[in-house]
Amino acid sequence: MTVNLLDFNQAQLADYFKGIGEKPFRAKQLMRWMHHFGVNDFAQMTDIAKSLREKLAAEASITLPEVQTEQVSDDGTRKWLIGTGAGNGVETVFIPEDDRGTLCVSSQVGCALECTFCSTGRQGFNRNLKVSEIIGQLWLANRSLRQADGYDMLPPGDRIISNVVMMGMGEPLANYDNVVTAMQIMLDDSAYGLSRRRVTLSTSGLVPAMDRLKEDCPVALAVSLHAPNDALRDEIVPINKKYPLKELMAACQRYLVKAPRDFVTFEYVMLDGVNDSVEHARQLLQTVRDVPCKFNLIPFNPFPDSGYETSRPDNIRRFRDVLMQAGYVVTTRKTRGDDIDAACGQLAGKVQDKTRRTFNRIPVEVVT
Ligand code: SAH
Ligand code: SF4
Repeated sequence: MTVNLLDFNQAQLADYFKGIGEKPFRAKQLMRWMHHFGVNDFAQMTDIAKSLREKLAAEASITLPEVQTEQVSDDGTRKWLIGTGAGNGVETVFIPEDDRGTLCVSSQVGCALECTFCSTGRQGFNRNLKVSEIIGQLWLANRSLRQADGYDMLPPGDRIISNVVMMGMGEPLANYDNVVTAMQIMLDDSAYGLSRRRVTLSTSGLVPAMDRLKEDCPVALAVSLHAPNDALRDEIVPINKKYPLKELMAACQRYLVKAPRDFVTFEYVMLDGVNDSVEHARQLLQTVRDVPCKFNLIPFNPFPDSGYETSRPDNIRRFRDVLMQAGYVVTTRKTRGDDIDAACGQLAGKVQDKTRRTFNRIPVEVVT
């Protein structure tokens, strides 16, 4: 079987070249061609000797996952369904804003963590994505956005995707090695050259992996909190039973020592009558008191048979005001791409569940 060069970061690519008797600096050239210029045909890599190009074409490949569908929302948000074989697919979303363009990237086919309000979690889990399938989402989105703008290749210095958030389907820290390698490629100046501050990983709170991440690849961190006390969080974010709030808050503090930003973003999905009272907001202030942070309130995005309702706007405002009056920066996330189901927690993809859950399952949405 040929190796897929999209599975490698630059150091691994250098090892590969050494292994086939070539100079390691070829790795940098290859990274530039594949990721910076978006070229997936060896024949076009004109500063590489023809003989080496032919050798690579025989022994290696640059294989991208397949785009199965692409949808464009009225507000400019785009969503791709990316085929990952065996009837599975994951979703990737691009959100254009005035001052930036953010790509929301998936890390797993489904998710095993079963947060009760999450469409991905309800679908079960199939497998981890490979590095090429994670970085491939950025590659494919870049190509599609360039083409939409009428370019074959991006003019240097012009970046349509300025930010990446690991907030699509899956728990990124549960696919640790592949996610870290893919993020290293995002940060590599020869590849996408994104700053650490503009790559954000969102986790439901896998404490040991948070500690590893701060050493291996410290990027901006978002933590899905969603509840101010252990009793409620145990119920709606079940991983809390393993890593309860006290441990999670301590891990956030440790992370900040190495983080590129001096705060953690706490995400908090607003569920009507579940976690959205003024009392919950006050408890939340106590829970996070030792962690420099900002809050991102996410109005619950409904999906069929979820059993939850979105908090009422008045309650969201009251909740927000409690946090703001205590001096915190609070943003309330706008829902984008409503007409194409591209909002947080709505990414369904195509998941052939392997966990054989007998409860919690919703019908798999097939996007055509
Ligand atoms: N697994 C990671 C990242 C993916 S989810 C995590 O949980 O952090 C990205 C964000 O969307 C998380 O904060 C998640 O809790 C939130 N989310 C999940 N379902 C949602 C829904 N139906 N409405 C709004 N936000 C949701
Ligand atoms: Fe998994 Fe995140 Fe959804 Fe929880 S919220 S089920 S961790 S994708």
